Amino acid sequence: MYARILVAVDGSGPSTRAFREALRLAADQRAVLRIAHVVDLGVALAPWAEPAFIDYATLDSALHEAGRRILDGAVAEARAAGLEPESVSLETEVDDPAAEILAEAERWGADLIVMGTHGRHGLAHLILGSVAEGVVQRSRVPVLLLRASDDATPAA
Ligand code: AMP
Repeated sequence: MYARILVAVDGSGPSTRAFREALRLAADQRAVLRIAHVVDLGVALAPWAEPAFIDYATLDSALHEAGRRILDGAVAEARAAGLEPESVSLETEVDDPAAEILAEAERWGADLIVMGTHGRHGLAHLILGSVAEGVVQRSRVPVLLLRASDDATPAA
C-alpha cells in the first residue's frame, strides 16, 4: 500500500518512536524509506537571539554536525533492522522545517510521511508541535503521527 515512506527525524523521543514505526512499516510494506532531517538555521532568528552575541559560523557548523549525527544514527539503526534507507539533510533559514519536509515529500514522491506529534522543543501540552501541525495542515499525502511513549529513548 505504501511504497515511498518519508520519515522526519529530529532526535526527540516522539521522533524516535515515529522512526521505529516507519522501520516496521517499511519492512512490512517493502517500501523505500527516506530519512529526512532539517537543519534549522532559523533558530538564530529567535527573539532571544541577539545578533551581536551570536557566532554564526560556529552555530552553523554545530547545527549541521548535530543533524549529521541524528541522520547517521538513524541510518545505522535502519541498516541493523535489515533495510537500505536513503537519507537527506535539508536546511531552513526561516525556521520553517515543515515547509522543507513538505517540499521533500513532493520532490521525492512520498506516499506517506511519518513523524512525531512533538519534537525537541517540547510543549507537550499542545496537541501538536508546530512542525507536525505545519505538515499535517498542508500535506497532500497521509501523515502518520506518533507521540512519545514512556520507554522511547532518544534516537542516536
Ligand atoms: P515539533 O512540531 O517541532 O514539536 O516536532 C514534531 C515532529 O516533527 C518531530 O517529532 C519530528 O518527527 C519532526 N521534526 C521536527 N523538527 C524537525 C527537523 N528539524 N527535522 C526533521 N524533522 C523534524
